[in-house]
Amino acid sequence: MTAKIIDGAAIAEQVRAEVAHDVEARVKSGKSIPGLATVLVGDNPASHVYVRSKHKACQEVGIQSFSHELPATATQKEVEDLVKELNDDPAVHGILVQLPLPSGLNEEGVLSAIQLEKDVDGFHPINIGRLAQKGRDPLFVPATPSGVMFLLEKHVPNIEGLNAVVLGRSNIVGMPVALLLVRANATMTICHSRSRDLPSITRQADILVAAVGKVEMVRGDWVKPGAVVIDVGINRVDDATRPRGYRLVGDVAFDEVKEVAGAITPVPGGVGPMTIAMLLRSTLRAAKLKD
Ligand code: NDP
Repeated sequence: MTAKIIDGAAIAEQVRAEVAHDVEARVKSGKSIPGLATVLVGDNPASHVYVRSKHKACQEVGIQSFSHELPATATQKEVEDLVKELNDDPAVHGILVQLPLPSGLNEEGVLSAIQLEKDVDGFHPINIGRLAQKGRDPLFVPATPSGVMFLLEKHVPNIEGLNAVVLGRSNIVGMPVALLLVRANATMTICHSRSRDLPSITRQADILVAAVGKVEMVRGDWVKPGAVVIDVGINRVDDATRPRGYRLVGDVAFDEVKEVAGAITPVPGGVGPMTIAMLLRSTLRAAKLKD
């Protein structure tokens, strides 16, 4: 069997087009232009790249974006004061604090300073707490996990009762994905670096999400025939044939697994493009909350 390839790039493009359409319509009808403010502390090169691509994506769909940068030496109070200023700015509907923050800053303190209604990245402790609680709903859900669910819901008609296995339990990907799958009534197993005999667990999975950051860890014989496999991993592998000297690969051995799975996301072009698309959607929703 050869798996269906889940085209995250195309699906993300559709989401962006829908956001662009809605933004145009709301502005024409006299409503506010959605605004996203980013807060970037320090000089982590990867963070600079991510933030730049978020601003570019905003521009493409008609969302205003405001860039705020602080030096790595910024104090906790300076970062929190900036967040509070943005809370009070009516042109800003969403606030994204780029993680990780430089060591020495208290991430939870900064995230807690974001007004809940502007927490488009979904990492405010109350939003994450609500995600974990029955009968409570977060206002926003983190972008990558939300992108994973969007792809799954398009390809799995009914998640309820299926066995789902998530490899990884990080705050930004693994754990929120697992919480979302529980909310979708999947039977959930979370694996991590201390889990034993991973292949015997992953072979039970109807839905397998890999978010570990290990090059092609999930092999063909780890996967149940017909399973839906979502590869969140983005890993660089040296490759002298590429202009940049490297290529990107996932946590899943794509060529092996595609022969076993029912559907699979590629890397690149799977979950990656969904992350920014979901952030744009959340920013639009934040603006709608203020209408
Ligand atoms: P973290 O390093 O924060 O977490 C990795 C998780 O994987 C941890 O829970 C760790 O377990 C677990 N793990 C590590 N090694 C193993 C192993 N050998 N067996 C089982 N579990 C293991 O990574 P992130 O969650 O931030 O990111 C995961 C991957 O997703 C990375 O490749 C990252 O680049 C990518 N990513 C992609 C995004 C996108 O937009 N597509 C966005 C964010 C991340 P333990 O908890 O025990 O340490």
